[in-house]
Amino acid sequence: MADELSLLPEHDWPVLQPFWEAANRGELVFPRCKHCGTWHWYPTYMCRECEGELEWVSVAPHGTLYSWVVVRRALVAEYREKVPYIVALLEIDDAPGVRFVLNTTDMSCEKKLYIGAKMQIVFERLSDAINMPRCLLAEPI
Ligand SMILES: [Zn+2]
Repeated sequence: MADELSLLPEHDWPVLQPFWEAANRGELVFPRCKHCGTWHWYPTYMCRECEGELEWVSVAPHGTLYSWVVVRRALVAEYREKVPYIVALLEIDDAPGVRFVLNTTDMSCEKKLYIGAKMQIVFERLSDAINMPRCLLAEPI
């Protein structure tokens, strides 16, 4: 049976490697076109707007809640001990157009979430190579 770490993303896939390297330093980065300035997520090899070269740019770890779901039943056995948890879709404040999926196991915010809530992105060390971004509600209600 696979453990939770076997379900983690491939951190050494070249397209995503800069993301995971930055996350390992506790830094959040997203690709932006050097030519037209369009932000991208999910990463690709070139700008989808103008085929320009992309560069990875550091952004503040803040986002705005676009949507979320509470997962109460594990879809894979490895997550049976993790439920419930919240999967959130954030718009990254410093990277217009980027919507980023991440989760939190802090269920204390469940009843306080609303579309437009300000969220803080933090990192949780899961392995030597994976420092996983997580989100927390940033504003008290
Ligand atoms: Zn472009």
